[in-house]
Amino acid sequence: MKKRLHNPNLPKIHRSYTVEEAASLYKVFKGTVRAWIKAGLPALDDKRPMLILGLDLAVFHQGRRTINKQKCKPGEMYCFRCRTPKLPDGDMVEYQTVTEKIWNLVAICPDCCTIMNQRVNLAKLDQVRRIYGYNVTAITATHS
Ligand SMILES: [Zn+2]
Repeated sequence: MKKRLHNPNLPKIHRSYTVEEAASLYKVFKGTVRAWIKAGLPALDDKRPMLILGLDLAVFHQGRRTINKQKCKPGEMYCFRCRTPKLPDGDMVEYQTVTEKIWNLVAICPDCCTIMNQRVNLAKLDQVRRIYGYNVTAITATHS
């Protein structure tokens, strides 16, 4: 049986989806979305209803298209074009806040100039700061 591929570009990365919304976005059953969560799709289950970040959906389906996704060492981020972990170009890393507790780190792949995204938990922030030092800059928040 051929494995169905799901389009990583469907979800809007700046919004979040309930299980129902994610299911209708991908035209699959809710059970399929729950199976994705079991297979490693991150979900914010401290919320009711449970929310899935669009960014996570995109990354999850991108990840499923690559074979044997390699683990990033500290400081590395995964480049989906090179399909390998890379150190950010020029050690420059920017972050966006996704939720109060989750940051999205953004950097550029030194080899193909693709934007690399990595989600970090606020709890890991110290670690991130230690790795990237003062090169981490905020690109968030233009709410005024
Ligand atoms: Zn690359």
